[in-house]
Order: sequence, then structure tokens, then C-alpha cells
Amino acid sequence: MRHAPAARAVGLVALVVVVLLGSAYALGRSVVPDPPPAHSTLTTGGTGPHYADQPPAEDPPPHTPAGDDRSTGPVETGQDGGAHPDDTREPGPHDGPFGTQTTSGTSLVALTFDDGPDPNYTPQVLALLREHQVRATFCVVGENAQRHPDLVRAIAADGHTLCNHSWNHDVTLGRRSPAAIRADLLRTSAAIRAAVPDAPIAYYRQPGGAWTVQVVTVAQELGLTPLHWTVDPSDWQAPGADRIAAMVVAAVVPGSVVLLHDAGGDRQGTVDALHRILPDLAGRFEVEALPDGRT
Ligand SMILES: [Zn+2]
Repeated sequence: MRHAPAARAVGLVALVVVVLLGSAYALGRSVVPDPPPAHSTLTTGGTGPHYADQPPAEDPPPHTPAGDDRSTGPVETGQDGGAHPDDTREPGPHDGPFGTQTTSGTSLVALTFDDGPDPNYTPQVLALLREHQVRATFCVVGENAQRHPDLVRAIAADGHTLCNHSWNHDVTLGRRSPAAIRADLLRTSAAIRAAVPDAPIAYYRQPGGAWTVQVVTVAQELGLTPLHWTVDPSDWQAPGADRIAAMVVAAVVPGSVVLLHDAGGDRQGTVDALHRILPDLAGRFEVEALPDGRT
């Protein structure tokens, strides 16, 4: 067996090569950056709205009253976002940007309606929610609350949860001083309370999803839970009722917080989508307002 030592040497070399290659492979994997957030999961083919089109949080566009609550952070849709390693774990309720709340934290599904109240669309939304015996969460803009206190009262009277959405939908609010942020949020809450003095306001949602440490901190100091979202069908882009409904119905999982808009532009598509969304979700999940401290 004169060849045995040589064979052992070859085997040893092969083993070393395998180990080195394995290390290089593992090293390569570890330095490959994470893919971007699973933004493609809510698109519809190549034509739908895309998260990549969103303005970055560092440089949001000038304020528009139209809802543009675009995600600036990871959006857990529960859909086919298998490309992201984190998709293998359950999202926590506070996994949003800067620790903002993204899910209900329970199995409850929460519909949220932003940018109102609006005299055209909010009453339609309220009627549909009533018809399907679903309670939701309304993130109202201060100047709209001041303009339409009757609608704020109607929201509260139906048992929906109220959420502060800043005074005039300032997507740059998070970059202002803590004192300015505080004044904006207090002014908004005061306008809501002028309509419904006893209604709790448990949440704050930053316009544009443009969260900063400052705005999260001030909201928490005021007793408002910073509320992000789980599912965004981009209804503010008015893609049509069918597309909005299809996206929501496909993406919602237990605990999802769904971002919708009842103001800020043509929201008839959102209203019409509710005709399909509400019976579908109510048949599969418990759809409820986010807790506001009264329950
Ligand atoms: Zn908004």
C-alpha cells in the first residue's frame, strides 16, 4: 500500500479546499447586503404602484393634503416576500420604523382610514362599516377635524378609534423641533376634543410614514402610540376599486393593520373597494378598531 500516504495527502488537501470554499461561501453570504424591503409584494404585475417610487424619508416632498402615507420602512405583508430573510420570523407589533407599531399585536385585523374627515367620503365609509358591523381606526387631520366636527362626532359615535394625524398633514413634521412637533400634535388633539371632549385619542400616525426619533418620542410623551401599518394597497394613488380590494384581500393576515384613506383626493375607489374588502375580511378574521384604552 505504497500509495496510501499519497492518497491520504490528497484527501487532506481536498478536505482543506472544501473547508476554505465553505468559509468563503459563508463569508460571501454574510457580506451580501439584505435585499430591500419586500416592496414588490403588493404590486400588481409591472403596472401597479411600487414602493420604490416613494420619496425617501430624508427628503419628503412638499406637503400636499392628498394622502401619501408611503412606507419608508419595512412592510410586512405576509405575502410572498420570501426573498427577505426576516420573512421567516413573525413580525413583532412594534417592528416599524423607530419602533412604531405595525400590527395589532393580536389576531385582530385593523382597518385604518387616514387624512379625513371628508364630507363626501367619510360618511360613505361610516355607512359601510356600520352595515358590516366593523369598527375601524380613523387617523384624522387637525384642520379637517376643525372644519368638520360633526364628522368627528359621527366617527366617535359609531365606536371607532381616533388617531392623531397631525394638524395639516405635514410630512416634514418629524424634522422640526420637538417643541414644534409637540405644538402640532396638541393642536390636532385639541381640535378632535373640541368635537368629542371625552373621546380618547390613543394613536399618532406620521403623515407620509416619515417617522423620526423626535416625532416618535414626542408622540409617546403625549401618550399617543406611534402607529405605522402592515398592509398598504396604495389606495391614495387611486388604482381603482378592484385593485385595492384584490391587494388587501390577498395581503391581510391575522394582526394586519391596513392603511386606507377616506380623504385627501378621489377616494371613491377606496369606498367601492370596501364593498368587497369588508365582507371578505369579516368572514375570515376578527376586524376591529385598535384598542383606545376604553376596552
Ligand atoms: Zn395621511
